[in-house]
Amino acid sequence: MQKRNAIIIINPTAGKGNFRDILPLLEEKMNAAGWRYEIAIPQNRDETRQAAKSSFEKGFDTIVAAGGDGTVHDIVKGINLEKQSLGIIPLGSGNDIFRMLKIKIDPVAAIDNLINGDDWKIDVGIINGKRFLNTAGIGIDSETLIVRRETKGFVKRNYVLLFLKTLSRLKPVHIRITADGTVIDDEFMWVIACNNNYIGGGMLIAPNAIHDDGLLDLILIRKMSKFKMVYCIPSIFKGSFVNMREVTEIRASEITFETDTPCEMGVDGDLPVKTPATISILPRALSLIKS
Ligand SMILES: [Mg+2]
Repeated sequence: MQKRNAIIIINPTAGKGNFRDILPLLEEKMNAAGWRYEIAIPQNRDETRQAAKSSFEKGFDTIVAAGGDGTVHDIVKGINLEKQSLGIIPLGSGNDIFRMLKIKIDPVAAIDNLINGDDWKIDVGIINGKRFLNTAGIGIDSETLIVRRETKGFVKRNYVLLFLKTLSRLKPVHIRITADGTVIDDEFMWVIACNNNYIGGGMLIAPNAIHDDGLLDLILIRKMSKFKMVYCIPSIFKGSFVNMREVTEIRASEITFETDTPCEMGVDGDLPVKTPATISILPRALSLIKS
């Protein structure tokens, strides 16, 4: 347990605004533990990034992200990796980054973890100069995000309908991949470089990924029929799909993706880069609070 000087950055829209339910308990525990803290409630993603970026100069040694993966991702972009620690209270719908901690996904358990935890060093991915914690891919992840951006109304908020619409559009992409010097040139349904094991709210996309080994787990799903792809979706949730003959798992620290035309990539639930993309890793660069 450490006494910390923390900024608590809350996403007021995450989890239908339920941060108000946990705030009294969080403050009670932080006071009891002798923490100094300030609460910030940014109104948009730019303000979130800015609050994280300016927090080190203001003297905070810890940033607590109270929100979903989007909030964590925005904070990671602004955190001082050498000098600050990151705590997470999962209030979102996916919470895949919090899943790294192997703790029950529950705000009360997360508060206990925060107060009692110490710094656990984990790797940070870099894609075209931008930080990521979870995954960077082309396929179901990027296509779901593109479909969500293009969709309006009820379907946009319904993950099952979005997912079905994504599957209906999914087609193989010709990608030239270089992984630590090895070149793989083929057509793929999904290629994804993983720092974490999970994506999409608990899909076990990289069952063997280790968070602090200085390597990314590259999951390559080769061209297959759409019918077979849909059929294997349940096994992606369980992680058993990696045994299929169309799937290759590689560990590498330097990866490039090149496509025939620029292709948007899904990175931690966002679409911030297009191919060609260069991915590397900063070993054990982030201090995540874990008890
Ligand atoms: Mg790893």
